[in-house]
Order: sequence, then structure tokens, then C-alpha cells
Amino acid sequence: MKGTSKFMNIRKGDTVVVLSGKDKGSKGKVIRTIPTSGRVLVEGINMVSKSIRPTQEMPQGRIAKLEAPILASKVMLICPSCHQPTRVAHRLVEGGKSVRICRVCNETIDRV
Ligand SMILES: [Zn+2]
Repeated sequence: MKGTSKFMNIRKGDTVVVLSGKDKGSKGKVIRTIPTSGRVLVEGINMVSKSIRPTQEMPQGRIAKLEAPILASKVMLICPSCHQPTRVAHRLVEGGKSVRICRVCNETIDRV
């Protein structure tokens, strides 16, 4: 299997588009990344129903819609500069830091 690295090109706050599954084509903002499982939590994507335990105020409990994490490989970053879905390149900058570069427009994705 390709891509066993836990390194992810998607970061919190990124806007991504879903490439496959029931939310294919949907866009959302990354709420959280889970590098250990290679998954991301995206606002409004992969919503699942979850039952909430009954409480004194709500003895029947309730069903809530929550985002479930999806594989980071199933989403693609949308470049904030050219607004195209893009693969990410990396460039080393001063201080040895690595920034992400859009392969479509070559603009820096991360603020340095
Ligand atoms: Zn771009």
C-alpha cells in the first residue's frame, strides 16, 4: 500500500473537496486532523447520526448529527489563491521550515 507515512498534507483550517463517497464534490473546512489514523474531520462532511444518552432534561435522549472523520486521502486541498483542488508540493524556507505550495498556481499555501 502506498502512503504509509503518517505525514499529512491537510491541516486544520484548510478548505478541502471530497473526492469519493456520498459527499463527493462537497467542500468543507477542516475542523481537526487525526494523524494517527490518517483521517480528517471536515465541517458538514460525512455526517452521521449519533444517539445522545438520555439526561434528566431529555429523558428520551436524542439523535444528533455529527461529523465523522474521513480518510485524508479521500479529500483534496483547495488552494486559497487559485481556488482549484490541488496536490501539494513542499518548499523549504528560511529557518528550515517547510511550507506547502500549490501545484496549480505555485503560490504558497501556508503563511510563513
Ligand atoms: Zn493555487
